[in-house]
Amino acid sequence: MTNPPTQPAISIAIIGGGPGGLGTAIALSSLPFVSVTLYEQSPEPREVGAGISIGRNAWNVLNLLGAAEGVTGGKLGFSWQRNGRTGEPLNLDSGDVAALGGGEKQQANGDEDPRYASIRARRTRLQAALLDKVPSGIIQFGKKLVEIRDPGEGGGVALAFKDGSQAHADFVIGADGIRSVVRRTIFPGHHLHVTGNTAFRVLIPLSSIAHVKDFPAVNGWWHGLNGHLYFARVDDESEPEPRLFEVTIRSYNEPITPDRTATWAIPATNEKILARTGEYDPRIQQVLRAVPEGEWREFAMVAGPCLAEITAWDKVALIGDASHPLSGAFGSGAAFAMEDGWILARALEVEYSRTSSTAIAIKNALEIFQRIRGPYYERMYDFLATREKHSQGTRKEEDADFDTIIKARIAGLGFVAGGKMDWIYKNDIEKVWNEYVAAEQAAKL
Ligand SMILES: Cc1cc2nc3c(=O)[nH]c(=O)nc-3n(C[C@H](O)[C@H](O)[C@H](O)COP(=O)(O)OP(=O)(O)OC[C@H]3O[C@@H](n4cnc5c(N)ncnc54)[C@H](O)[C@@H]3O)c2cc1C
Repeated sequence: MTNPPTQPAISIAIIGGGPGGLGTAIALSSLPFVSVTLYEQSPEPREVGAGISIGRNAWNVLNLLGAAEGVTGGKLGFSWQRNGRTGEPLNLDSGDVAALGGGEKQQANGDEDPRYASIRARRTRLQAALLDKVPSGIIQFGKKLVEIRDPGEGGGVALAFKDGSQAHADFVIGADGIRSVVRRTIFPGHHLHVTGNTAFRVLIPLSSIAHVKDFPAVNGWWHGLNGHLYFARVDDESEPEPRLFEVTIRSYNEPITPDRTATWAIPATNEKILARTGEYDPRIQQVLRAVPEGEWREFAMVAGPCLAEITAWDKVALIGDASHPLSGAFGSGAAFAMEDGWILARALEVEYSRTSSTAIAIKNALEIFQRIRGPYYERMYDFLATREKHSQGTRKEEDADFDTIIKARIAGLGFVAGGKMDWIYKNDIEKVWNEYVAAEQAAKL
């Protein structure tokens, strides 16, 4: 019997402390042979961006990470589709419940176990639940990565931060979000573009709109000509006051200029919001006027093409938004990012047990990661391309009136209805891993 090593054999640096980085830190920290350091650019734990949907796929991975308990929110339930000008309900049929369309997608709620029904949660709650499970002392805040370098064979990976400090690790995980420095360095030919679609997001107390007469304060979408407004409760009725709700306004025709890439979570004035929402139902106008000045945040959507590779140098992996810049297209990016981290940990665990070389263990683990997650992300891109083709077909008939336009849009959402999206919203990452292992064993027989 060999003695356990006194030093962890593999040093791992995670760049970024969003859901992906934190989930990965939890999953990897449970391996006895690694030491993990997470570098986050923010000076302190923080999360911007209002609400986040937690569907069955997110619950599955949160359970594996032991972080499900702290995540609470409002049940998503049925999401109404409305004419934004009048509030008239326009749902085509109950199949629409499973439709999606942006960050604020609707998720199927047919989950058998009520504990894992889809919810809309405050982002801070997801972040706090994950932070709570990250072993203490491994996160370094105020560390903005500015350079990542491959010093050559056997040299691990060199990191440099904005504050002038440097670090070194055997294995680096780029969890630094859609504008990833890690991705830009290892794949300099990959570029993001501004889509012209912008989200304005806010959370405010439900009590502050109690005066709005006959307002249907239930989750749903209000469709306008050049955008939509998403309304959702982010607190459960059992939670103490103040219970909050979220408004996200999507504006489809914002300027497409390069400087917009930096417009992310920046404050937006109430005047700016009102200038974009003049056509909405008067009750919506009243709701918007209840938002205190300084609360809105603006996010200009950026996106980039599918990466054929999500690993590099045999010692770097991209996860979450860093690996598939889709700008929240499926409204499930937090789950994807956490799933990535959990799979990386499983792959490293199994490969470490197979070889005495840590470099080979890392290299092989990255190959497994690429084999499992690469095709999953490709499938997402393929799906979006097919949906786009479908909606182009629909658009030909759209030169008609407002009603026709928004009905066509809702029909576009229905395009993905009917349980066809279970590969995303019900993804069971543990099952995915078990199937991979079984297939690998079968191939060796
Ligand atoms: C409008 C909108 C709505 C959305 N709605 C949903 C939803 O309902 N459900 C859902 O699951 N997803 C949703 N998403 C997507 C979701 O927000 C992301 O997919 C998810 O946050 C990705 O997690 P991540 O950890 O990969 O990246 P991020 O959450 O972006 O985290 C990246 C982290 O890295 C840090 N960082 C960045 N650069 C550096 C650097 N150079 N050095 C050090 N640290 C760095 C950042 O500060 C941040 O903490 C939505 C997205 C948008 C835009």
